[in-house]
Parts: sequence; C-alpha cells; structure tokens
Amino acid sequence: MRTLMRGTSFTALTAAVLLTVACGASSQISAGSTISSATAASPVISSPTARPSPGQSAASASAPMTSATATTSVTPATGSSKPSASSSGTASSATIPPSLRGRVISRIPTSRRIVALTFDAGANGDGVDAILRTLARERVPATFFLTGRFADSYPTLARRMSAAGRLGNHSVNHPHLPLLTDARMQAQITGAETTLRRVTGKNPRPLFRFPFGDSTPREIRRVDALGYVAVGWTVDTLGWQGTSGGRSTASVLRRVLAAKTPGEIVLMHVGSHPTDHSTLDANAVPQVISGLRAAGYGFVTLDTLVH
Ligand SMILES: [Zn+2]
Repeated sequence: MRTLMRGTSFTALTAAVLLTVACGASSQISAGSTISSATAASPVISSPTARPSPGQSAASASAPMTSATATTSVTPATGSSKPSASSSGTASSATIPPSLRGRVISRIPTSRRIVALTFDAGANGDGVDAILRTLARERVPATFFLTGRFADSYPTLARRMSAAGRLGNHSVNHPHLPLLTDARMQAQITGAETTLRRVTGKNPRPLFRFPFGDSTPREIRRVDALGYVAVGWTVDTLGWQGTSGGRSTASVLRRVLAAKTPGEIVLMHVGSHPTDHSTLDANAVPQVISGLRAAGYGFVTLDTLVH
C-alpha cells in the first residue's frame, strides 16, 4: 500500500506480512471513528469515512460557498475552545481542543474556502526541490509530515521544508503502529519528534499523521496524550501510485478539485515512484494551486487547526 512500496525500511519478510495486513483489514480499523461536528459554530469535520483509502473516490462534499476569499492568514473556526499555544512547541494534550481529540481529523473545521496542502515524506527526496520552488513562487505555505528517517537522510531538505510552512510528525520509520507494543508505538512518535527537532530546530507538535493512515483508538489516545492531533486527509491524490499505476498529473488535479470543500486537507507525497520514477504530485502542484485559486480557495498550513 501507500508508501510501503516506496519505503526501504522493511525486510522483505516483514513487508510481505505487513502488506497482507495493510491491504486488507487495516483500511477498516478506524472506520468507526467518524468525526462529528466540532462545535455548533463550525459544523465541519464530519466525513463519511474517517479516511479515504486509495481507490476510493474522495468525499466531495458540495462546498457551502459562503465565505469571502481566503488568505493565508486565516483565523480558524474552531470555536471557543481553541488553545493559545502550539507552534512554540509547548503544546501538550491540555492545549489541544477537545474537538480535535479522540479522532483522526480529515478536514479543517471552517466554513472558509481554505485548503491545506500536505506532503508526506518517508521515501526519497525526489520532487522536493520542484515542490518548494512552486510554493515559493506562488507564495503558498504547506505542511510536511516527515519521518525521522527522512529527516536524518535528507537534513537539508528537511530544513527547507520546515521553512516553507509547517512540519508534522510521521513516525520514525513508517511502521504500522497498530501492530506495535505500547512502548514501541510511543517510541515511534517521540523518537521522530526528537530527530525532527534536532535536524530542523522545529517541534512537529501538535501535528501527527499515522503511517498508512493506520490507527485504532489505542494509537489515537496515545497520540493525543503526547500532545498531538491525529491528522488525516480529505483527499488522497493517489499520485504515489505513479504513471505505472495509471495516474497522471491530470488525475491528481481532478481528484483535488472534485473534493474541494472548505478546510480540505490534500494528501500528496514527496519522492519518486520506486519503479517508474514519476513525481506526479510534485508535477501537479502548480495546476493544483491555480485550479483551487480559480475556485476561490486560499491556502493555509495545518497550524490553522490549533491557532
Ligand atoms: Zn506515509
């Protein structure tokens, strides 16, 4: 599944075992964690599925076209319970709004036409340069979920990604967390945080994304207890499937636009496909930005969730 085919950390045996699990049951693990309205004032994060899986069309809610044109400095509509701290890296579970705990967030709670472009990095660094150049040229911020292993392997890229927006924690080396003991699972989260802080000087808290999107209530509770919000996505571009998987920059763009809705969280990946070497998400970013802008959308980082 996603990224497993791109990753390099698994032995063949482990990968074979995990593939069996990942492609079957794991996509159902957190299906019960449907998100209900965060607050009365922000009727947002209710998605029909906790997280779209590859091949599943995005939950393309018909967007309530109400708000004014968004900018990149948008105040979130998280209601009265929003915290006062987070980007300082001092966030703890106490500072995470209750509405963001106990679940995987698949959309920013807002009625504004804003989108968060997010990039997961766990494989190689291909495409990062193009992505960063596009974001800088268009003055669009993004959120980057890095594994500790990626930051160790590509420290310069990790620092540049951090400077281009917001970092998030994507575990140490991208295992299926539900398969780990409590201790090992927690070490994946805290170990990545330590590495990201050492390499970039920035704390990825309070943003965490589960490898493969795999979680059960146990992992979500632990993530929350460590001061993180579990962030999923509204739409997976499936660019990671590559040209050999039948994808194209056009299909990436189509999926993003079909799912556009206030607070859309777009999942993309850095790195090239392991066999066809395509970098479809990187290639599609310029069109994704212009397409969303044409529809009246602006761009934010996932800091918007907690600020
Ligand atoms: Zn990943």
